[in-house]
Amino acid sequence: RFITFEGIDGSGKSTQARLLADALRAEGRDVVLTREPGGSPGADEIRRLVLEGDPDRWSAETEILLFTAARRDHLERLIEPSLAAGRTVICDRFADSTRMYQGLSRGNLRDKVDKLHALMIGREPDLTLLIDMDPATGLARARGRQGHEERFEDFGLDLQTRMRDGFLALAAEFPARVRVIDGNAPVDTVAAAVRDTLAEALA
Ligand code: C5P
Repeated sequence: RFITFEGIDGSGKSTQARLLADALRAEGRDVVLTREPGGSPGADEIRRLVLEGDPDRWSAETEILLFTAARRDHLERLIEPSLAAGRTVICDRFADSTRMYQGLSRGNLRDKVDKLHALMIGREPDLTLLIDMDPATGLARARGRQGHEERFEDFGLDLQTRMRDGFLALAAEFPARVRVIDGNAPVDTVAAAVRDTLAEALA
């Protein structure tokens, strides 16, 4: 099974992905926990190209190609082989993040994102857990986190709010696949909601 976590910066999705991986492993499942951008050596190299250095050296279109190239490598090297071996793959961000960040943040490029996805990726998760979070709270959390120097600081409240609204619209677009979890609750409450949603959705 292929399960992804999505949400705005500071939504707590990475923590929830880890807690779900721990819970499933405790049940004896064979779990691969991974993240994007990155997740394979080649994709990690592309992650550095995109998230470090001067972000203005890439056009929005080039960025779509880079993120998709990273995803393709991750899919070929890690995700597909793991799924074929019967393992559960939990991925922190996947194609929905590109639909949002590359598709919406610098103009409306969603159509290009979707076409490239259809051509080069094709795979959708069995279940996507969208950790919904108040944009201002998420921003404060992300800003307070160590190591946010990547390119995060460009993302002010306005963009954070647009991304949150975009993710909720995406959940409405793919109701069978994407489930919204309230990420404003305490971490254990969110983790329990994640486990309940998974049990119900993939029963
Ligand atoms: O999820 P994580 O915090 O590792 O993401 C790193 C940064 O990359 C975040 O600021 C996120 O908004 C950005 N990002 C992006 N496009 C993606 C995935 C992540 O701009 N497709």
